[in-house]
Amino acid sequence: MDLFSTVKTNISTIDAAERYGIEVNRYGKALCPFHNDRHPSLFVDDDHYHCFACGEHGGCDRLTSKLYGLSLYDAAKKLAYDFGITQDKPPNKAMQEKQNRKSEAQRLRENEKLCFSALMEYYKLLQKWMVLYAPRAPEDTLHDRFVQACHQLDYVEYLVDLLIMGDSHERTEVIDMMMTDGRLKNLQTYLEKVNKEGKSFERREDLYDEAKDEDNEWAFWFDGKNINEVLFCQHFLQLHPMKCVRGRLFTVDGIVEDEARSAK
Ligand SMILES: [Zn+2]
Repeated sequence: MDLFSTVKTNISTIDAAERYGIEVNRYGKALCPFHNDRHPSLFVDDDHYHCFACGEHGGCDRLTSKLYGLSLYDAAKKLAYDFGITQDKPPNKAMQEKQNRKSEAQRLRENEKLCFSALMEYYKLLQKWMVLYAPRAPEDTLHDRFVQACHQLDYVEYLVDLLIMGDSHERTEVIDMMMTDGRLKNLQTYLEKVNKEGKSFERREDLYDEAKDEDNEWAFWFDGKNINEVLFCQHFLQLHPMKCVRGRLFTVDGIVEDEARSAK
């Protein structure tokens, strides 16, 4: 029996997958290591595996070859050795190095986490600036941070939405874009710088954080005499997030009853 047949007869694809770090659930499904998978799309059976999202398909030898970047023959040798079928020498040095390399999917997942946390932090910052640095009177000159928030908030929200709800292809596109030309690094550096400047930037930032506490009687939209309605509404929406869907308001708890409508 040649090496391939020996390996295929003696080692099930499930055993190989689990041995090499793929967690297969009781339905035979697993997160695919060959694309940026979030819901298990890899089906693993005794004699083959198949990914319903990226189409990757094969037996235990191909699985090992793809995971470790080995030729099919070296993959079969590795399997035979790892499962104690042969006593032939262990993987050579080149194979060891490849073993230590992270798989493409692992790298993608790590980068996705980094992108998400940076974009989310930036998104929250822009939301805050949108309220905090909004002009209080028509004749006010626009604050740089307000202008920046106006320009970028929608786009950053769109990227965050894609990372939360996009399919693996869309998420990978966002990650690739962020990893190009050091965009992620630049954003992280920028956020660090803003954090360092912190509240020393303007007294308004202090007031904003105090006002976020609902029990606090003082609020930054009230100057002691008048209520700035725009600021009040923006602040209210921050405390009670809601979205308008087909003309009805929804909070996380469900629909907001329209008193005028239900009175009819
Ligand atoms: Zn896949």
